[in-house]
Parts: sequence; structure tokens; C-alpha cells
Amino acid sequence: MAGYDVLVIGGGVNGSGVARDCALRGMRTLLVDKHDICHGASGANTGMIHGGARYLLYDVQTAKDSCTDSGYIQRIAPHLLFRIPFLVPFFKHDAFAELVMAGADMFFAAYDHYQPLKRGKTHTRLTRDEALALEPGLTPDIIGAVTMDEWGIDPFRLVIGNAVSAREAGADVRTYTEVTGLLRGAEGRVTGATLRDALTGEVTRVEATVVVNSAGAWAPQLAAMAGARLRLRPGKGVHVVYSHRVSNYAFITLGVDGRQMFLMPHENGTICGTTDDDYYGDLDRLIATEDEVGYIRECGERVLPALKQLRMQRCYVGVRPTLFKFGVNEDALSRAHQVFNHAEDGAPGFFTLAGGKLASFRQFAQEATDEIAAVLQNTRECRTHLDPLPGGESAPDVEVLSRQFRWPLSAVGRVAYRHGSRARRVVEHADHVEGGRCVVCTCEPVTAGEIAYVAQHEQVRRLADVRRRTRLGMGACQGARCLVRGAAVLIQAQDRPAQDVFDEVRDALTARWRGMKPVMEGPNMAVAELSQYVHLGVGALHEAWQVKPP
Ligand SMILES: Cc1cc2nc3c(=O)[nH]c(=O)nc-3n(C[C@H](O)[C@H](O)[C@H](O)COP(=O)(O)OP(=O)(O)OC[C@H]3O[C@@H](n4cnc5c(N)ncnc54)[C@H](O)[C@@H]3O)c2cc1C
Repeated sequence: MAGYDVLVIGGGVNGSGVARDCALRGMRTLLVDKHDICHGASGANTGMIHGGARYLLYDVQTAKDSCTDSGYIQRIAPHLLFRIPFLVPFFKHDAFAELVMAGADMFFAAYDHYQPLKRGKTHTRLTRDEALALEPGLTPDIIGAVTMDEWGIDPFRLVIGNAVSAREAGADVRTYTEVTGLLRGAEGRVTGATLRDALTGEVTRVEATVVVNSAGAWAPQLAAMAGARLRLRPGKGVHVVYSHRVSNYAFITLGVDGRQMFLMPHENGTICGTTDDDYYGDLDRLIATEDEVGYIRECGERVLPALKQLRMQRCYVGVRPTLFKFGVNEDALSRAHQVFNHAEDGAPGFFTLAGGKLASFRQFAQEATDEIAAVLQNTRECRTHLDPLPGGESAPDVEVLSRQFRWPLSAVGRVAYRHGSRARRVVEHADHVEGGRCVVCTCEPVTAGEIAYVAQHEQVRRLADVRRRTRLGMGACQGARCLVRGAAVLIQAQDRPAQDVFDEVRDALTARWRGMKPVMEGPNMAVAELSQYVHLGVGALHEAWQVKPP
């Protein structure tokens, strides 16, 4: 039986962050996830590395901590961050609109005090004409606006960067590896876990001095394996993705019930969301409903009426592992985080991470690792705020790379954004792959070389893992044009049986379809039918594969 200092369960942002911190402090670390890295809430959020201005109303410490950690995340992963300038419009038909705008002006003046922590700009008050000049698509029904400055990130690359860094510092990382039970020793001590490989069915046992439950919304299930009761307020959040960018600015806007939501440019599209509703359903069968989509649309169209004409591409859904509190609306729940030491529940050696935000993950991981280090009597200092994540060392010269390796400038630009200083390694890698410079996914764009690179260096076990690392299939066509081509590259790069990878094309298209179905209407249907046509075609191919020649 293999032995580790630390077993980390859950490859979301918190688990990957803890694994990185533990490995950098020299602990023998194993990180496992029952799916891929970034499968849970960490891959289904708004992607903002923000303070969260509204938390100033009821949770000042979390807003401050998030701003501070945002500053550190910018330092260690500058290539992944992008500025999101916001407009907060005020509507002439709203009650006391002038008064509310004056109040907001004062409110954002308070938030300005935290902006230097994350290199943010202070707010400005705009007249109606100034706001409309900046964003002509904004509804004319406004009396003015206030600006606010935040940062966004590709959450997939952030989490994968942490996992890759953990591995490079000596950790083992095993994806599609589910913890099905905990091993117990004397006096109830948790001494390891039983693992089941979801792809091979192989069952193994690992021993670890400390076991960390960072399973997000699934954490209560893991805690129960140690006989501990952990209560969360899991909050379901849905976003709608539009197929194009329609504005330069992001907007803070309100739902019909007065809840705050965001409408913002994100990657090559626009996202609007999010809902926040208590969730009691199956965490492994999340679906968005048409009602939720309608609610989000109404909120976005109030600000940008032209959204009505824009194609909704899909929606996505995740569940926040929010800390439990009774008698409070979901919106007003704290986004604070907490490390639970289950020694108090008769399970020494077992810790749970609950709550938190993407924006404060590094600090959360540091606090958890400090507790783990105390058990292991490890006195090494935390370095996660100093050591860059893979690619965060320096900015590559995109034009030089494009000229030198004869790659399309747009493709090199995306590679530089995703891989930072490692962009050179990615483009060099393409020279060893047949057709390495070919753009496989034109929406994003993604080259065959980049797919081959992540297949070999970033823990890819299935085709869908390539999507999380490169955005293959996440653009306007939702994989209809690129997934089969991506599969062909993967077959070659990993020397895998073609039949297996074609099964994965079918699974990947099914997963895309699940996100597209709730937004289906009008012109969306045409794109959906094309996608279904490809889906069925691949399905038929799969069936044909089973037929033995006569
Ligand atoms: C809709 C939405 C919007 C959000 N927007 C923002 C935002 O803009 N900014 C921000 O700062 N925060 C945001 N958040 C919050 C943030 O995304 C979460 O706090 C964070 O991602 C939680 O990370 P985690 O690692 O704790 O959990 P998760 O990312 O859910 O990871 C848990 C992992 O555990 C694995 N797992 C579960 N059971 C097992 C098992 N038995 N064995 C092995 N592995 C297991 C799962 O597969 C999963 O990958 C948002 C959240 C949501 C849902």
C-alpha cells in the first residue's frame, strides 16, 4: 500500500491549491478527483477574481481577504488575468433612482479603499450621455451610471496550473479516481482511503498521515464516511452564455426579484448570471431549467435590449459549497471559508475545507496547509504567494513566436493567454506532431500542437479533459466542427485505441447538448440540429465500430 504525508480529496480550486502548497513545502502529497481536475464549482463559476463589492454590506472581512488574495493571484498568474471594467446603470423608472445612484456613489467610494490591494481603479460617476457614449447598446432608460473595476480569469487554467505545479513539486495527481471509503486506525484516526479508478475499475488503498476533504459541495458525503456531520448550504448557480461579445464593459444588473447579477464579456462570448438557489438534488446530475434561463435573460435584456436578437449558445451550472447558516436568503450568505478539524468528531488526521471563493482560494489553501503542517511537524514557509504558477514567470512575445514558428497570430495569442511563458514550449511541441500548426477549433482557436501538448503534459485521460485545458469545443459551434478532429489528434498523441476516443466524442457532445437544451429556441434550433446531426453521426460510427465484418 502506497504511503503519503497528505491525501487531498477533490481537484477543485481549493484541493489543487492545498496540494500545491503541501508539495511546495516538501510533503509527499497525493491529489485525487473522481472526475477531471476542475469538474465541480471551480469549472462552473463567473470566473471573477474580485473582492465582491456587495459583500461589503454584510461580510467585510471576506471582501478584504478576496481583494488581498486577488493581488497575489495576479502576481503568480499574470497571464491568466484580464481586467473587467464594470458599469452599474441606474434606471429612470426605478423608485428613488437619483437617491439610489447617489448612495451607490458613496458605496463604491468605500470599495475604492480596497481597490489598491488588487490593482483596481477607483470608481467614477457618469451622466446618462457619458454612459451611453461608452456603451451605445445600453438601454436609453437610464439616468446615469457608476463605474467599477474588477478582474476575471480562466478558472480552468487556474486550477490546472495549481495541479501541474503540485505535480512538478513532487505530488502525485490521479484523476477519475474516486474515494469510496476512508481507512481508520487506532482511536478512529483516519489513515488513508480506498480509491476506485472510474476508467479502469481498479480498486486500491492508500495510506496518508493526513486526509483532506476538499470535495466542495460533496464534502458532507466524504465527512459522513468518517462519521462526522458537516452541514453546508449548497447553492445552485446557472449562467447563460451568448455566442458573441456585445459590449466592452460588463454590467451589474438586477433580476426581477432585485437580486444582483452580472452581464459581462467573457472569452469570445458574453455571459449572464448567476442564480443562487438552495439545492437539495443530486450533485452528479445537475441541470439548468428553462425557468432559470428565462429569469437570467430578462435580467440581461433589461440592460442591453439587443441581447434579444443574440443567440444563446448554452448554459452551465454549478453548486457553491457555501457555509451553513439558518434563516438567511441564499444571496446574503457569507462567502467566508473554514477549515474543520474532525479530531473533534473522533476522526483525528481528517480535515474538511468548506465555503470560500475562487478569489480567495490561495489564502484558504495556505490556512489549511498550515494546519496540516502542524500535524506533520513541517516548519517550511508557504510560498504560494511568491512562486509563479506554471507560465506565470514572464510574458512571451506573441509576434516573435508567430513569425518564428509560422503560427497564426490569433492562435499564438490564445496559447500565450493560456500557457504564459510556456507558450514557447507549446509551439515548439507542435513541430513534433503531424499537422501541429493546423487550427483544429476555429472558434477559440486551438491548434493540433496545443492539444498534443496538453495531452502529454497536463494529465489528460479523456477528450473532455482537453476542453477544460484548451477550450476545444467551447466556442460557437459547441464542438460540432472540432471534437472529431480533436479526437484524431488525441488518438495520435496518446497512441490510444480509436474506438475509445470516439466513445468520448459521443460523451463530450452529449455533455454539450445538456447545456444547450435549456436555451433552445428560434435560430438556436438550427445550430442544435446540426450539432445533433454530428452527434448521431458519431453515435452511428460508434455502433458501426461494433459490427464485425462478415
Ligand atoms: C455559479 C457560481 C459562480 C461563482 N462565481 C464566483 C466568482 O466569480 N468568483 C469567486 O471568487 N468565486 C465564485 N464562485 C465560488 C467558487 O467557484 C467556489 O467557491 C470554488 O470553486 C469551490 O471550489 P472547491 O474546490 O471547494 O469545490 P469544487 O470545485 O466543487 O471541487 C470539488 C471536487 O471534489 C471532487 N469530488 C467529490 N467527491 C469526490 C470523491 N468521493 N472522490 C474524489 N473526488 C471527489 C469533485 O469531482 C470536484 O471536482 C462561484 C460558484 C458558483 C457555483
